[in-house]
Amino acid sequence: MIDSIFTVGEPQFIEDVINNKDKRVALQQQLMSQYLEYTVVAVKLNIPGPIKNNQYLEKLFALVYKDFKQTIPKIIDEINWNINTGNEAFLIVDENARTIKQLAIEFENYATLGRLFDIDVMSHQSGHLSRSNFDMEPRKCLICGRPAKECARSRRHSVAELQAKISCLYAENIDGDI
Ligand SMILES: [Zn+2]
Repeated sequence: MIDSIFTVGEPQFIEDVINNKDKRVALQQQLMSQYLEYTVVAVKLNIPGPIKNNQYLEKLFALVYKDFKQTIPKIIDEINWNINTGNEAFLIVDENARTIKQLAIEFENYATLGRLFDIDVMSHQSGHLSRSNFDMEPRKCLICGRPAKECARSRRHSVAELQAKISCLYAENIDGDI
């Protein structure tokens, strides 16, 4: 039986998440205007429920993010956040945004634990790139494999069910000794 990785951590409220989103958007805008010729990549975990960070999620982020970075060429700068709303990273990349978006979608779709990652790609020239501009299959639900958007919209799965699945993935892929 696998224990939950969500038993520790500082519960976050909706206003914490909204405030953090505002800070993220502001930083992204600043980076896009500071690095006019470059691509900005924003990476975070997609974790349902009030616990967004703790030692387990920190370790999960660090390991998977390291794998992601190895797929990205020409990184020229990097900013890391490790805060109660979660771990996030921002990369400045000397490569066109479409190429990087393609790599990001592939990572989200096929890398081990890539499904837990949200990777946004943007640039001053192209704006925010959307998955729908690429001929790639939509993201799949962690639990049932249906399109993830459908399950999120209909709240098909409870937070407890999603946390149990993530704990299980953690034990299988990161550390079985939790
Ligand atoms: Zn589902």
